[in-house]
This record gives sequence, structure tokens and C-alpha cells, in this order.
Amino acid sequence: MTTALRETSVRDVSVFGDAIAYFNEAADLLELDAGMRRILTHPSRQIIFSIPFQRDSGEFEVYTGYRVQYNFARGPAKGGIRFHPRVTLDEVTALAFWMTWKCAVVDLPFGGGKGGVTCDPRTLSANELERITRRYAAELVEVVGPDKDVPAPDVNTTPQVMAWFMDTYSMHVRQNIPGVVTGKPLEIGGSRGRVEATGRGVTICALDEMAEMELRPDNAAIVIQGFGNVGMHAAKLFEERGCKIVGISDVTGAYYNAEGIYVNGAMEHAAKFGTLEGFKGGEKITNGELLASDCDVLVPAALEKVFTAETAAKVKAKLIVEGANGPTTPEADRIFRERGIVVIPDIMANAGGVTVSYFEWAQDRMGFFWKEAEVNERLEDFLLSNLHQIRSIANSRKATLRAAAYTLAIDRVVKASKLRGIYA
Ligand code: NAD
Repeated sequence: MTTALRETSVRDVSVFGDAIAYFNEAADLLELDAGMRRILTHPSRQIIFSIPFQRDSGEFEVYTGYRVQYNFARGPAKGGIRFHPRVTLDEVTALAFWMTWKCAVVDLPFGGGKGGVTCDPRTLSANELERITRRYAAELVEVVGPDKDVPAPDVNTTPQVMAWFMDTYSMHVRQNIPGVVTGKPLEIGGSRGRVEATGRGVTICALDEMAEMELRPDNAAIVIQGFGNVGMHAAKLFEERGCKIVGISDVTGAYYNAEGIYVNGAMEHAAKFGTLEGFKGGEKITNGELLASDCDVLVPAALEKVFTAETAAKVKAKLIVEGANGPTTPEADRIFRERGIVVIPDIMANAGGVTVSYFEWAQDRMGFFWKEAEVNERLEDFLLSNLHQIRSIANSRKATLRAAAYTLAIDRVVKASKLRGIYA
């Protein structure tokens, strides 16, 4: 896993606005009534607070913390905490909105949430990071908990950050409550298989769709953008299944090798140097060239808004599997549809992480921990049974997999909301 600060794209339009565009398309397919649309396009709760903290130098600074609990119809809110200088309420709200549909699409008993702190972890010592995390957790004590809202890691937050969060919460409530967050280290209630889960999920979904497209793994060329937690583990698992990884990239550039990149070599390089800079296992090209390179399957596993109208027109892959959240703009999505390029949408393709987070939460509550093989087997069951439902909706409604995934997810949330009733 990389510790480098992830770059995010410059956004001059509302991320939440883009997210709503996908929702509306599926809401139209479902002929969702105006009242339910209004309810589901508003977050249940947005919390903004100040995080005063003391630098190691003794100076005081104040950062802004956010937690958005988007929807609780199917269970406690669930979603990561992001530490990044460009965190905004708009972004956190969009991410919490996505989490609502992601949890629903794989049928987890959770709603959607997300949080963040507007800070630059590159400028913080470990002690400063710990103080910010503890203050962030302390501000949220009343509104988080295993039955209320269960945070997890996201950009620049690690298992260690989750450990500090869990400890602070447990201190405040005077009980050990590991199930308040997921993505913890194994020693204090983490789940086996969590680290690789998102990459594993990407691979499970991709291989299933490849079989549907009659694309044999040993005949498939794969390109992966981003060589962090998601991209690296996906690459490894694709290779194990006999696929050829022809291109990889990270923030330093992209590497292409039509004969196949040796993934272990790239992983060793990244572990030793922190990035792929200087990697000799492929020809160095730009990230833009990588997206337009010859391949069968393309996995964006880095950033939001990678596919725009311009980049989408150049894609040569037959299948895109969205490891990253929000890599495709609505314009690019239209182009992929017109060009017959199949896209497994983010809310399905990268749901492996939150699914194993759910397993972690369940194991914490039982106080009984599963073997890794059991985690992986259950993960595959959850992902494939729901991917197959999405495919059958897509076929019967002549819709894209994305519209079908949103349709399935929205339908599940609407059913839960209607059964509970709107407490108005
Ligand atoms: P990470 O920080 O571990 O890795 C990100 C990778 O992207 C790094 O290799 C980085 O160098 C690379 N990158 C950054 N800017 C780039 C650029 N301009 N061009 C090419 N590569 C670039 O992050 P991660 O956990 O692997 O997450 C990647 C994406 O997957 C994000 O969109 C994240 O929200 C999403 N996601 C992650 C998880 C998870 O469990 N980690 C779960 C669901 C979704």
C-alpha cells in the first residue's frame, strides 16, 4: 500500500451534481415518484466542525472536519474518512451518496456515510496526525457507533488512524468497541483479507464479465491506472488468473509492455522506492497514452474524472472496470455506451472493500474471527450474486450496467424506506 498523498483532480463542477446525474437516470428507469426522489437526493445529516490542534512546535492551528451521514434506511451509515487539503462538504456529500448505493448494490445492511478533514498529512508528524484523529473522533462520539455510523479508511487514512479513532471512541464510552470503525489492524479486530479486498473485488467482477464476453483470461491484456492499494492487488490477482498485465501507472507516469509486466517486480520496486519511478519492466509513457493504449480490459484505480469526452473517445479497451470512485464523467459514459464499451461501474466494481468491512464489523460484534479463505469465499458470493442481478436488469431493460446497478441499489433503498415509512 502506498503512503504517498494521492492527488485528486481539479474539480470546477460539483461532484455531488455529477453523482446526482447517474441517480436521475436510474430513477427515471424506476419511474420513481417526485417525493422519494426529493428525499433520496438530500443527505440525512451533514456535520461540520472545527478541529483545533497543537503543532509539535507548540503553535495552534484549526482544521475543518466533516461527517456526512447520507442515508440510514438500510442500517448504520458506512463510509471512509479522507484527510486531504481539498476536502470539501460537496465532495464528502457526493462520496456519502455513492456509499449509500454501493452498500445497497451489494446488499449490505448499511446506509451511506463519509467524512474528512481539510488537512495535508504530508506536513504532519505522526503525533500531530494522532492528535487530529483523536479530536476528530471525539467530536463525533455521539453520532458514530456500531449501530449508528461506522467509518473506515479512505484517502490518506490508514489502519493506524482507525486504531486511534477506535481507541478514542472506546475511551469516551468506557467500553472496548472495535466495531465502531473498520479497516483496523488485525491485532485489534481487523479482518483477514481486508487489505486486498477492493483489488480482489475488481478482479472477481472483471473475470466474470470477461467470461460473459467470451474473453479468456489467458488471452486478455489488462491495463491498470494507479498502483496503490486497489491497482496493485488487482494486478497481482489478474496475473495469478493467467491474464497479461500490459500497462500500469502511478503519479510518476505509466509503463507499457506488450509482452507483459511482471507484477511482483513492480510491487517490489514500489515497496523499495515508494513509487514506480525508474521501473524498468516496461516502456515509460504518459498516463494519457496509457488510457489510449492497446488492451482488452482497462482498470482506472487512481482518481476521479479520468474519463472525459476527450479521453473516452481514445479508449481501445472492450471492458472498463472502475476500481476508482467516479472515474467516468457522464459525457464519457455516453461515449462508452455509443462505442459499445462495457463498463462495470464503481459502486459494483470496487465494492469488495466495503463488503469485507461489513465482514469485519460482523466479526467484531461476534468476537469470532474468520480464516482468510472464508472471507474470500463469502466476498465472491456477495459480489457475483449481485453482479448477476445487475446483468439481468441491464439485459431486460436494455440499460448499461451502471444504470442497472443504480436501479438495483435505489430500488433496495426505496423498499427499505417505504417499509419503515417516512417519519414526517
Ligand atoms: P492509493 O493511494 O493506495 O493509490 C492510488 C494510486 O494512484 C497511487 O499509485 C498513485 O500514485 C496513483 N495516482 C495518483 N495520481 C495519479 C495520476 N494522475 N495518474 C496515475 N496514477 C495516479 O489509493 P487506493 O486505495 O488504491 O484507491 C484508489 C481509488 O480506488 C480511489 O478512487 C479510491 O477512492 C478507490 N477505492 C479504494 C478503496 C480501498 O479499499 N482502498 C475502496 C473503494 C474505492
